[in-house]
Parts: sequence; structure tokens; C-alpha cells
Amino acid sequence: MPAPDRYAVIGHPIAHSRSPQIHALFAQQTGQHISYEAIDIAPQELALRLREFFEAGGRGLNVTVPHKEAVLPLVGALSARVRTAGAANTILRQADGTLLADNTDGAGLVRDLTHNLAITVRAQRLLLLGAGGAARGILAPLLQLEPRELVIANRDVERALTLARAFAPAGPVRGCGLAQLQGPCFDLIINATAASLAAQLPPLPPSVLGAATICYDLAYADSDTRFTCWAREHGAAQAHMGLGMLVEQAAESFYLWRGVRPDTGPVLAALTARRGH
Ligand code: NDP
Repeated sequence: MPAPDRYAVIGHPIAHSRSPQIHALFAQQTGQHISYEAIDIAPQELALRLREFFEAGGRGLNVTVPHKEAVLPLVGALSARVRTAGAANTILRQADGTLLADNTDGAGLVRDLTHNLAITVRAQRLLLLGAGGAARGILAPLLQLEPRELVIANRDVERALTLARAFAPAGPVRGCGLAQLQGPCFDLIINATAASLAAQLPPLPPSVLGAATICYDLAYADSDTRFTCWAREHGAAQAHMGLGMLVEQAAESFYLWRGVRPDTGPVLAALTARRGH
């Protein structure tokens, strides 16, 4: 049997990553002969280690914090999704040996929202909390779903305004500070801040949330995040965490690398079942 094709996720830190587990399940399900590991790379070693990985025959990488922007000057080509998002989460070695960076985060979120959770975005009022890398990566795919309005609210108001201006040609988007949020309530609130990672909650007026509001946190935890707790306590119709997005963005990367689309349902079910064990 030939050696497996080699893939990995790179980040710093990376030990917590669920990606090796997800891609192992995808490979098992689709019969693809691959290996997938987590590699911790400090920022100052990024260029060297990336080159070494591909020179040693590596076929593709997932890229996470803090390297999502730093990899862009290190590859040969950027997909349209990367140019829009300003960040990459996937690198593939193409047939001619050149490296292509892509971003599957937005596609992953949209697939989780619309396919797994059957949430309608079209003609709805959306509130996007945060204006960092993840917010930037999901804005264009969200606007393609034609919401009635998309409000970006961020702690640093200027970042929200800048992001809204950049995406204004793509749809009805405006920016504001968290303190400026006021009714009527939103149909869908997406938390793309990093607050949940520090067990914090962005300061939100309860008026943003009504009995029909659906809340989605890009972050995920074994039980609820602070944000999904807050959503439930204030009577949201639904509160979801981003594990589905993680699995869906991984599936999109797997498809780019292998040309085979895994069935994400059983993988998400297996990960959910394992939580807390
Ligand atoms: P960034 O560091 O690029 O951006 C952080 C954002 O969070 C900024 O808008 C920042 O506001 C805001 N923020 C941080 N702390 C607080 C706080 N205490 N209160 C209010 N706002 C806060 O991070 P990313 O965009 O890369 O990641 C954001 C989240 O998305 C993380 O939780 C990450 O795990 C998650 N994620 C999940 C994915 C998935 O597959 N499920 C994929 C990608 C990301 P300010 O500008 O004012 O500093």
C-alpha cells in the first residue's frame, strides 16, 4: 500500500483542534487514503515550515489562528473567496505544484444554516456581531442569501463602519457600535466575536432579541457558550453553536483536496455524541 497523501491543520496553539478527528472520519467514510495531523507553527516559523511541508510532498493544509492572513503572501494564487475575505483557511497543492489558498468558512456557515438547520436568511433582518476575520469571511456568502438588512455591530465602531462600507456594493449592509443597537428585534443574530472564547458576552440590549429570533454562535463549547446561554435566557426561538460550521467548512476543504464530498450528517452526529465524554 502506498503512503497516504499528507494533510494537516496549522495554527498556534493547535492542540485543541477537532479537525484531525473530523478529517479522519471523512477519510474513513469516503475510503480516501490520507493522513491528517495538527501541526503547531509559531508565527516566525510560518514561511519556512509551510515550504518544508509542501517540499516533503504535503498535499494540503487547513489554516487557523493566527496564520489565516499571514499565509496569503506565501502561496502562488488566491481564490476569489480569499480575495473577498482577506484570509484563507485552506491551501491546496495544484497539479502543477503551485499553492492555491481558498476560504471555506463562509460556505461552511451557509451550509450549516440553510441545510443542517433549515434557517431562512432571505428577506430576514440579520445582526452580525463582530468585525474581525471571521465576520469578514462570512459577509459575502451571507449577503448572497439576500437578507432584507444586515447590521454589523462591533465593540470598536470604526471597524464595523469600515467593514460595512467595504461590503455595501454586495447588499443592504450597515455598521454601528454595540451600544447603538436598538429595536425592532432581529430575525437572526450571528455572534462572530471572539468573546465566547473568553467566556464573555458582548454587551447587548435585550431588545435585539424577540420570541422568533434565532441565535448562532460561531464559537462552540461542550455545553452552551455565554452567548447561547444569554439567547436561551432571553427567550430566543433557537440557539446554535458553530460545530456544524466547523464540520461543513472541513467538508468543503476535503472536497477541494479530494474531489469527493463527504456526508457531514453522521460526522456531526458522532462529534456531538462524543461531547462531554
Ligand atoms: P478576531 O480576533 O479576528 O476578531 C475578534 C472580534 O471579536 C472583533 O470584532 C472584536 O471586537 C470582538 N471581540 C473580542 N472580544 C470581545 C468582547 N469581549 N466583547 C465584544 N466583542 C469582542 O477573531 P475571529 O474573527 O478570527 O474569530 C471570531 C470567532 O469566530 C471566534 O470565536 C472563533 O473561534 C470563531 N470561528 C469559528 C469558526 C467555525 O468553524 N465554527 C471558524 C472561524 C472562526 P473589536 O474589533 O472591538 O476588538
